[in-house]
Amino acid sequence: MSFSSDIKDELCRLQNENQCCRFAELAGILRTGLIIREVRNRNLLLFITEHALVSRMVYSRIKEIVPDGVEISGEKTTRFKRHVVYRLNLTGITAFKEGNELLGSVGINISLPEKTIEYSDFDISERCCIRAYLRGGFLAVGSVTNPDKSYHVELAFTDSRISSEFMKYMEYFELKPKLIQRKNYDIVYMKEGQDIVDFLNVINAHNALLEMENIRVLKDMRNQVNRLVNCETANLEKTVNASLKQVSYIKYLDDTVGIENLPANLKEVARLRMEHPEASLSELGKMLNPALGKSGVNHRMRKLEKIASDLMQKEK
Ligand SMILES: [Zn+2]
Repeated sequence: MSFSSDIKDELCRLQNENQCCRFAELAGILRTGLIIREVRNRNLLLFITEHALVSRMVYSRIKEIVPDGVEISGEKTTRFKRHVVYRLNLTGITAFKEGNELLGSVGINISLPEKTIEYSDFDISERCCIRAYLRGGFLAVGSVTNPDKSYHVELAFTDSRISSEFMKYMEYFELKPKLIQRKNYDIVYMKEGQDIVDFLNVINAHNALLEMENIRVLKDMRNQVNRLVNCETANLEKTVNASLKQVSYIKYLDDTVGIENLPANLKEVARLRMEHPEASLSELGKMLNPALGKSGVNHRMRKLEKIASDLMQKEK
């Protein structure tokens, strides 16, 4: 199962919701998820979802209000292999007073002959209800990619009034949604891990939030380890480059004056460097007898370099 459908499962099972929030959630579902489609010369008002629990939830919520207004038509439309679509036919609600009141109360104006759905403002004043409204929208038209792969949450709206309304409510919770157009949809999306965690919190998907946080912690640790490895590689490269340079001027000294003719303290360092080109300065220092610190070894290296470069100058 995908991360998205796990979240929707969790949200469909939420209980003890306030009555005000239940209504706001249904409004969020209806204001985002309804479409009109022509089927066998009839214009039908439909709600289509790939998610079994969402279809069942919408079905029972509508049935509570308009008992004869909803039917499951083509419960499982297998378009592709293993791709199941649940289709609710809500055309019937327009034949009932309760149905039209419901549509009116959530700011939806439908014309089946003209195949249009128009939305008027739908004001929500309570913070709890705004969360529920966003949750309804997510259940109907939202998805989250698996956080193992990337961070991406999006809601796809068919109406620009609704997309800007959702952005406004998301910003109310200090989320930072962005908008792009894709085909005939307004896609409201977020790509920051923190935004997605905050969004899951707002819509009350707390199990999903915890799972996402776990994955983020693991990902961060992996990145940190990679950074450390890269950093170590860089340090090693620095040591090796310095050593190669030192070896080259010590070789030069050996060819010209001979290592044996250098002062005793320099002779020993030069010999060890030639024998251990991979060693760091402090490692070289430990091989000396008596041992010498890193800066002491560095000092002698510089002296060797100075003698070598002086000799080169003279030769020019
Ligand atoms: Zn509420």
